[in-house]
Amino acid sequence: MTVDCVVIGAGIAGLAAARVLREQGRTVRVLEKGRGVGGRMASRRVGEARFDHGAQFFTVRSAEFAAVVERAEAAGAVTEWTHGFGTPPDGHARWRGTEGMTSLCKWMAADAEVAVELSTTVTDLRGIDTRAVILTAPVPQSLAILSFSGLLPAPDVAIRLAAIAYKPTIAVLATLDRPPGGMADHGGCQFADGADLAFVTDNQAKGISAIPALTVHLSNERSHEHWSLDDAAVVAFAESRSADLRGDASIVSTQVQRWRYAGPVAVDPDPTVVWGDDPVVAMAGEAFAGPKIEGAFLSGVAAAEAVEARLG
Ligand SMILES: Cc1cc2nc3c(=O)[nH]c(=O)nc-3n(C[C@H](O)[C@H](O)[C@H](O)COP(=O)(O)OP(=O)(O)OC[C@H]3O[C@@H](n4cnc5c(N)ncnc54)[C@H](O)[C@@H]3O)c2cc1C
Repeated sequence: MTVDCVVIGAGIAGLAAARVLREQGRTVRVLEKGRGVGGRMASRRVGEARFDHGAQFFTVRSAEFAAVVERAEAAGAVTEWTHGFGTPPDGHARWRGTEGMTSLCKWMAADAEVAVELSTTVTDLRGIDTRAVILTAPVPQSLAILSFSGLLPAPDVAIRLAAIAYKPTIAVLATLDRPPGGMADHGGCQFADGADLAFVTDNQAKGISAIPALTVHLSNERSHEHWSLDDAAVVAFAESRSADLRGDASIVSTQVQRWRYAGPVAVDPDPTVVWGDDPVVAMAGEAFAGPKIEGAFLSGVAAAEAVEARLG
């Protein structure tokens, strides 16, 4: 059966798009290569520990995103984490998922009754029976799919999209034998630009882990430098740079997660890019209206509205 739209990716952009199209009465398939929804809003369990290992929090500025967050809060999926990480805090709310950052995406999918087809990696769009497709993977990955499928946009647009570059982030996840002694009560520590680390989270103090569990994000620059080193070297670096924050707590176990496409170096000025009519093709995600979670959400909404207008 021909569907109105296929959405590639069940991160927040893809789910935002799918929700809008479902509200318009459109038939939608969401195809996701991962085993769960959320994309870079990623949470992982390791024994009793739970880590947010991608995005750590989100902020809310637009009325459109606020309306969804308000409903997600009422449903128990998200809650305010803190009002800033500085001293004194800046007072602007930082939000988290109640069971990790994926909670918001899980709620969005369930609330809109979007059945996500998990563990489904799309490489070729030609065999998919659809009137429209919205791609929300990082731009280089979406362009590879489009190239293989013979659906690239006009050369000037393709060149503009191909110029969107990404910064990497390495995350080190560490369980501890006791709570870290050197962190603020809320459990977040944001570093200034130019530091070796970008962010450290005590996931227990944050409220998502049953036991002490630290997420250490290297800065983009150090992530780039350490990208090809083995895990032991990366862990040793994170361990030395987070020593003050750990205090007398010792590391029990570690895992390393490398995010090649952590975030765009520069954001495209348009919230979405749309072309074609058979099928209609749109690209969305944080590289467009973004960066960050709210930008990705707004980009997904913009892509769905543009597709809706073209489907007629
Ligand atoms: C380490 C890190 C820290 C961050 N910290 C913050 C923060 O604190 N606050 C904030 O606001 N933002 C933060 N961000 C950015 C935030 O996570 C992103 O802006 C947002 O989650 C992007 O959403 P998206 O839907 O555009 O993309 P994604 O979340 O990447 O979703 C794209 C989805 O597409 C899927 N996919 C890719 N290729 C295919 C394919 N071929 N077939 C099927 N599915 C596919 C992926 O598996 C993924 O689920 C952080 C990101 C990282 C990596």
